[in-house]
Amino acid sequence: MTARLIVVSNRIPTEAEPSGGLVVALHDCLTAQGGVWIGTSGAPVKQPEPELRQIAQGAYTRMVFDISEDEHEGYYLGYANSVLWPLFHRRADLMHVQPEYADHYMAVNTRLADMLADFAQPDDLLWIHDYHFLPLAALLRERGVTCRIGFFLHIPFPVVSDILALPQANELKDWVAAYDVFGVQTEGDVGRVMAHYRDDPDAVFDTQGRMVSLDDGATPRHFPIGIDARDFAALAQAQADAVPLAMTLGQKLVLGVDRLDYSKGLVHRFDGFAAYLEARTPDTPKATLLQIAPPSREDVDAYKDIRTELEQTAGMINGAHAELDWTPIRYIRRNVERDTLASVYRRADVAMVTPLADGMNLVAKEFVAAQDPDDPGVLILSHFAGAAEQLTDALMVNPYDAAEVGEAVQTALTMPLAERKARHARLLENVMTEDIAWWTRSYLGALRGTG
Ligand code: ADP
Repeated sequence: MTARLIVVSNRIPTEAEPSGGLVVALHDCLTAQGGVWIGTSGAPVKQPEPELRQIAQGAYTRMVFDISEDEHEGYYLGYANSVLWPLFHRRADLMHVQPEYADHYMAVNTRLADMLADFAQPDDLLWIHDYHFLPLAALLRERGVTCRIGFFLHIPFPVVSDILALPQANELKDWVAAYDVFGVQTEGDVGRVMAHYRDDPDAVFDTQGRMVSLDDGATPRHFPIGIDARDFAALAQAQADAVPLAMTLGQKLVLGVDRLDYSKGLVHRFDGFAAYLEARTPDTPKATLLQIAPPSREDVDAYKDIRTELEQTAGMINGAHAELDWTPIRYIRRNVERDTLASVYRRADVAMVTPLADGMNLVAKEFVAAQDPDDPGVLILSHFAGAAEQLTDALMVNPYDAAEVGEAVQTALTMPLAERKARHARLLENVMTEDIAWWTRSYLGALRGTG
C-alpha cells in the first residue's frame, strides 16, 4: 500500500476541479494516490477553532484551519509577505521587521503543528509548501512526529549575508535542518542553503567539499517546477487567432506578463525597452511592449507605490517616443483569462521575462510552450529568474543594465527564422520534458526516499 500523502499549503482550492498548474498537479497526485490537503480556511475569522475541519471528501480529503484577523495581519501580511518575501527576493531594504509579526507566524505554525501531530501517522508522507510554514517540521519533531517530512520553497533562498537581516536567522537554520528533504527551485538555491551551514559542526561534506546533508540527515535538493506544457501548447494552438490585438500592421509585439510585484523588475524592464526605442534607427522594426500586470498584495505597504511609479515611467517613455500611429508601451492592469493569455503569448514576437529575483518564473515556460514551432517568438530572460538554469537558449540579460536589455530587444526583433527555430526547439524540449508531472514525480520520489 502506498503511504498516505499529506500536503500543506497556505491556499487550498475550493472548487471540485481546480485550475492552475501547481494546484492541478497536487490535485492530480492526491486524486491518484489518496491523502489529505490542508490549508487555511480563507477569510480571517474572529475566533479560530483549534481543530482541522474537513471541507471536502472525494478521492482525497481537504481540510482547513482558521486564521484570526490579527494573525492575518501578523502571519500573512506581516511575517510572510513583509519580512520573508522581500528578504528572500533580495530586498532586505523593503522588510518591515516587527516582533509581533514573528509572534503571529510562530503562533499559526504552532497551532497547525499541534493539529497535525494529532493527525499524522508514522508512515505518512508530509509535504509542506512554501515560506508560510518554514518552522513546521521543527515543531512537529518536538511533538514526536516521526514520519518523513518534506518542504518545497517556491521562492529563491537568500544569500547568507542577507539572512543576517532576519531576527530569526539562527532559528531559520534549525527550521530548514528539521526536514528530510528541503526542496528548492535551482542549483543556485541549493548552494545558498548549504552556504548557511558551512561552519556547522554537523554538516556532512562530500569529497569535493560540497555539503550533502545537514544536521539530522536533511538534504537540500533542487526540483525546478514546470508547467503542464502539453496542455498549454494545445490551448495556445487552439486559441491562436482568438484575440483581436489592435496593433498597426507591420508593428511587432513584445510581451510582458507579471503580477505587479517589485521582484518582477517592471520599471527596469520599461527602461530597457526605452533603451531600444532610443537606439532605434528608421530601418529597425517598430515594436510595442504590451505589459499585462494586475496589482497584487495591495494591502502590503511596499506594493502601494509600484503602480504609480510604473504608470509614470510608461507615460514618460510614451511621451518621448509615441507617434500618431504608434504607442510604444501599452499597460493593461487587469487579470486576463488563461485562454486569452495563451493566445497573446502565441502572437507575441518577443517576451520580456526580466525579474530582479524570481524562484522560477512560469511565464517564461508558458511563453515557450505557446509558440508556433514553425515561426516562434524569442524569449528574453533575466539571469535572476530560476528558469535561467534550464532555459539557457533564451537571450539572457542583466535586468539592471538597460542598454543590454535594449540591445536584446533589438536582437530578438531581427533574429533570423532559422535561429529562432533552433533556440525554440531546445527550449521547448526542456519545457516539455521537465514539466509539472515530472516535477511532482521527482519530488515525491525524494520524499519517499526512492529518488
Ligand atoms: P508568481 O508566482 O511570482 O506570480 P510566476 O511567473 O511563476 O510568478 O507565475 C505566475 C502565474 O500567474 C503564471 O501561470 C501566469 O500565467 C499567471 N499570470 C501572471 N500574470 C497574469 C495576468 N495578468 N493574467 C492572468 N494570469 C497571469
